[in-house]
Amino acid sequence: MKYCSTRGGETGLTFEDVLFSGYAKDGGLYLPEEIPVLTGPDLTYFSQLSYTDLVIQVLSRFIDSEEIPEPELARLVRQAHATFETPDVVQLKYLTEQLTVAELFHGTTLTFKDLALSVVGRLCDFFLEKRRENLIVVVATSGDTGSAAIESVQNLSWVDIIVLLPKGRCTPIQELQMTTVIKDNVHVFAGDGSSDDLDVPIKSVFQNSAYVKKHHLCSINSINVARILLQTVHYLYCYFQLRKDPCDQPMQFIVPTGACGNITGGYIASQMGIPLQLIPVTNENDIVARTLTSGDFSISEEVKQSWACAIDIQCPYNLERLFYLAANRNTQTIRHIMDAFENEYQTQIQDEILSELQKVIPESISVTNPDILMAMGECFRTKGYTICPHTAVGYKYACDTRKSGKVKPLQVILSTASPLKFPEALEQAGLKKIESKKIDELFQKPTRFTRMDRRQDWESILKDKIEEISAQWAKRLLARDI
Ligand SMILES: *Cc1c(COP(=O)(O)O)cnc(C)c1O
Repeated sequence: MKYCSTRGGETGLTFEDVLFSGYAKDGGLYLPEEIPVLTGPDLTYFSQLSYTDLVIQVLSRFIDSEEIPEPELARLVRQAHATFETPDVVQLKYLTEQLTVAELFHGTTLTFKDLALSVVGRLCDFFLEKRRENLIVVVATSGDTGSAAIESVQNLSWVDIIVLLPKGRCTPIQELQMTTVIKDNVHVFAGDGSSDDLDVPIKSVFQNSAYVKKHHLCSINSINVARILLQTVHYLYCYFQLRKDPCDQPMQFIVPTGACGNITGGYIASQMGIPLQLIPVTNENDIVARTLTSGDFSISEEVKQSWACAIDIQCPYNLERLFYLAANRNTQTIRHIMDAFENEYQTQIQDEILSELQKVIPESISVTNPDILMAMGECFRTKGYTICPHTAVGYKYACDTRKSGKVKPLQVILSTASPLKFPEALEQAGLKKIESKKIDELFQKPTRFTRMDRRQDWESILKDKIEEISAQWAKRLLARDI
């Protein structure tokens, strides 16, 4: 399998090439050159697999065995999944005959990001070991990405991570999930500022490409194509677990959506031949719902803060991948759309692309902040089941469709985070705090981080750290101490 850019500037890249890259050189995003369509025998075989085995099988369709031999791939995926608290990794909760919640949050940091990042980290380590080359990941975070990134690299041999977090501006649990990881390869800095302020020194360091190359720097983010490919698997898994014979309607997946990485995974699953519908649901930051229902692809004035904070997003960059797949891979069309969007912050998506997308994504809604709390309360009262604010956005959609007289397909809400992470929202929704040993322990653990106050030069602090790590690696490699 080879990879290409959505804007046509690059083709024929290997998986290894794209695994270590962010944006393509032409500004586009990477995707596989073709989507493998599952045949009858594949479907029969896949339907019997555990989630872990399904990940291995799906990845082996997207990564040539010359790049990673299958036994090796299997070992890496099993190692990644061993960090989950449940052996089946993804758990299904049956709320009614027709409505299921897929709990995607049983990884260490309690969000669905662990599903992809735990594996991606190990894939990187595999190639680095082969090359005998280290890597330094640098991220600024406002919450979930930083902790999932730390978690995914903390047990790797060839990777260091530097995280800049905004002191006091993440939730206490998010902050502790970063500062309590005391490992030689994890370096946490807490700055007095917002996550945008923290982006400034990072951007400036990454602008110097010679420096980036010299110190093997890389930035983890949700534009990585490997993350998208891993996010196809929970759709396949739920479909196989839940489908009924004869299935007369596609299964409907309701997905709390921010940057559309998860939805893109679902769209690819549909192109692989799984009969499904996708319903992206957003909070008051409604750009995705607007774009996919009316073609109005325009940025809003500001990001609104909501209880579902992981989807407080203004620019859902993975939409570019959806447009590309729906436009039958016409790169000229994509360049046209993205040029307009990047220059004017708004454009209208052509009807042909929109109607193609709507075959799989028939509807998309935005849910208000008060409705998020109401849905959390209602789910607990009627189902005895506590959900996080993101999952509540999905639950609200499910309730609305059940109340209306519409045809009722089998619905699956993708639950992207554990309610344990959101004690403040639970309280506001009038729900009891959930007891958790894991969370209590987090508050007992020692922490380690370096403070950066406003008067200091953050860029030189960052560079000093990078150069210190590089120097240690040079010494280790010379001494063959790895
Ligand atoms: C990142 C995240 C999302 C959004 O996922 P996208 O792939 O960006 O749409 C939803 N919920 C939670 C809890 C997240 O952490």
